[in-house]
Amino acid sequence: MENIRIQDDLYNFVNGETLEKLVIPDDKPTAGGFQELANGVEKIMMDEFEAMTESKAYPNEYLQRACELYAIAKDADKKAKDGIAPALKNLAVLKEIKTVEDFTRVYKALTLKGIPTPFKTFVETDMKNTKRHLVYIQGAGVILPDASYYKPEMAAQKEQILGIWANVAAAVMAYTDLSAEDQQKYVADALAFDAILGGLVKTQEEWSKYIEMYNPTDTDKVANMLSTVDFPAILQDLFGKVPETIVVTEPRYFGEFAKVFNAENLELYKHWAYVTGLLGDCTYLSEELRELGGAYGRAIMGVAKMQSIEKFAYNLASGKYSDPVGIYYGEKYFGEEAKKDITEIVYQIIDTYKTRIMTNDILGESSKEKAILKLSKMGVKMGYPDKPRAIYDQLVFNPEDSLYDIMGTLYEIKTLDMLSKLDKPTEPENWAMPGHMVNACYDPFVNDITFPAAILQAPFYSFKQTRSENLGGIGGVIGHEISHAFDSNGAKCDENGNINDWWTEDDFKRFDAKVQKMIEQFDGIELPWGKVNGAFIVSENMADNGGMSVTLDIMSKTEGVSYEEYFKNWARVWCQKAKPEFLQLLLSVDVHGPCVLRANMPPRNFPEWYETFGVKETDKMYIAPEKRIVIW
Ligand SMILES: [Zn+2]
Repeated sequence: MENIRIQDDLYNFVNGETLEKLVIPDDKPTAGGFQELANGVEKIMMDEFEAMTESKAYPNEYLQRACELYAIAKDADKKAKDGIAPALKNLAVLKEIKTVEDFTRVYKALTLKGIPTPFKTFVETDMKNTKRHLVYIQGAGVILPDASYYKPEMAAQKEQILGIWANVAAAVMAYTDLSAEDQQKYVADALAFDAILGGLVKTQEEWSKYIEMYNPTDTDKVANMLSTVDFPAILQDLFGKVPETIVVTEPRYFGEFAKVFNAENLELYKHWAYVTGLLGDCTYLSEELRELGGAYGRAIMGVAKMQSIEKFAYNLASGKYSDPVGIYYGEKYFGEEAKKDITEIVYQIIDTYKTRIMTNDILGESSKEKAILKLSKMGVKMGYPDKPRAIYDQLVFNPEDSLYDIMGTLYEIKTLDMLSKLDKPTEPENWAMPGHMVNACYDPFVNDITFPAAILQAPFYSFKQTRSENLGGIGGVIGHEISHAFDSNGAKCDENGNINDWWTEDDFKRFDAKVQKMIEQFDGIELPWGKVNGAFIVSENMADNGGMSVTLDIMSKTEGVSYEEYFKNWARVWCQKAKPEFLQLLLSVDVHGPCVLRANMPPRNFPEWYETFGVKETDKMYIAPEKRIVIW
């Protein structure tokens, strides 16, 4: 791009030409960057699935099952023959609910069948003692992309989106055995019940403060909150006993639960469960219904066409058998040599954090020591796991069944397995992401980072790239993930991942001052598709900033590096073209900032940016020194 200067807009300077050429595929909301890599992996693995299915030569029984599921999911004729019947049969359990007592009685069946309930009961790691599990309860999901759409300022968008949903729901309901009048009533009731939920369940912004989920409460007290159901009986059904403690993730919602779910609202609930359940089920029914039911999701993301049946089938099968598929991908397409090199970079980054934290002005002396301990004990998962977790041995199905019933069987096996974990120790050796996923994460409750094989490729990382490019690419992402150990949430989890206040009040004060400054740096930035909420995305922006400071430190100690290459590749990995609907949606539901800001905001906090490109006060990517923030 001739007319864009790097000093004004690093992102478009680097990506302008690519962005002009990029075409967003009909079946996706974005193109470029992460999506490009994901498409590549999808293509490779679809060819693999095809070849395995063709030759009937499977590397192991897990892949055999995955391929069998793939074949069933792409058999349009069989799915058409099965029609909507399997879903209606599954939903029939709702008819048994005539009283709130009936609801208690069938709660377990609803849970195992995946039919929406006003609250979910599940087993998760005890955040305060991460070696064991506890029972958690959580409110229901809403029809809108996020509960924040129920706020008054979102009224116009809410009306528009719910209008789309109601049309889609009506079209799908026409396939049921209900009268036209009932169909209409069900949809109207579903919307009415959703509005009740929407005013009480948490928004994504609230979920992002995930430590606030942890409210362990005596079961007696929880039973009082859930007074309109027999909660102890539900627990007895699910676990064969009544556990003493329940973690209440949404106190506001459960504080008002009796107003949400009661004899008066029972019909509303049943109709909401029926319609939202059926819409979700469409994915596994005939192609006609997959198209119809998916229309709502596509509309809110700005996607024109549904995925081809082959892609759909592959994504379904590789999702259900993700550990084995990820291992296969990793073993074949990710070399040991790359793993060794990248692991070295990781430890270099961890060591650099250690020295930076020692001289940093946020943490006091005692907290610094604990921070070093946390870094020393941090687990590093690179590429793919050695073996799939045990559950995969159980994931068998009858190939004669309908796709819908097979998915139901697999769902039930996984749900029962999850419930059975209550009195078993946690398994920190499990991977949070499979090898074929283009993503990375830090798990605060394990204190480890996971980098699947699929993200360890260019432009993030490559042998063919220079050290500077790799540091600006994967280095920045590694630094980002590690810094989550030291953000507002990470500050409350210790080296074993247990909730444990290891920061002093003064530490928090100094840190929060930086958080405030970071919120201000982003808040209210106007983009063509909407305004940025600085508080919502602050943790991710802090992490990007950390990723850049730690890798620039390594750059300064490495010979023969190029800052130009570093910054350019930093921007390259964020290259993304997206549908405006999707970008708008992300502003409300994604804790990460828009790609253009992730590329363009962090550099301006660092002197290397100004020195490398001679950035001056008159340039757009200049900010005054007193506004610059360096956290770690
Ligand atoms: Zn992050």
